[in-house]
Amino acid sequence: MTTTSSAVSRTLILVKPDGVRRGLSGEVLRRIEAKGYELVAVELKNADDALLAAHYAEHEGKPFYAPLVDFMKSGPVLAIVAQGQNVIPGFRSLAGTTDPTTAAPGTIRGDLGRDWGLKVQQNLVHGSDSDESAAREIALWFPTL
Ligand code: UDP
Repeated sequence: MTTTSSAVSRTLILVKPDGVRRGLSGEVLRRIEAKGYELVAVELKNADDALLAAHYAEHEGKPFYAPLVDFMKSGPVLAIVAQGQNVIPGFRSLAGTTDPTTAAPGTIRGDLGRDWGLKVQQNLVHGSDSDESAAREIALWFPTL
């Protein structure tokens, strides 16, 4: 019998300004660690236009883009690199779906998020959605890693 093993990967997680303001940074870190992922880097950062333009390049031109960038500059963001086998889909599963109103209970967005007037903008966390995005986003937020 042959066995296959999955390699350790890394993802970029952000606790967005709403999460930091509400004092939920520790709760997000707790859930990442409780799931069994390893923290590689954690840093509170004030994102500027250049960083956010690069981070959200795929959304440029969409109606929610400019308000999203303003929101992401409204306060500090806790940037996290976490690692483990399949951490990219694993953290997306912990985060829940984009809209916090309907994100499943048990998830970060489902348990802790709600609509504060802008529907889905303030949804507490970001998690990379693919290996390519993770590599690109980790290089943007942690250029020395
Ligand atoms: N967003 C928004 N309005 C929308 C869709 C998305 O403000 O109609 C914001 C929201 O904060 C979301 C982020 O843009 O988390 C990136 O959107 P994406 O579709 O990549 O969702 P995610 O991968 O974060 O679930």
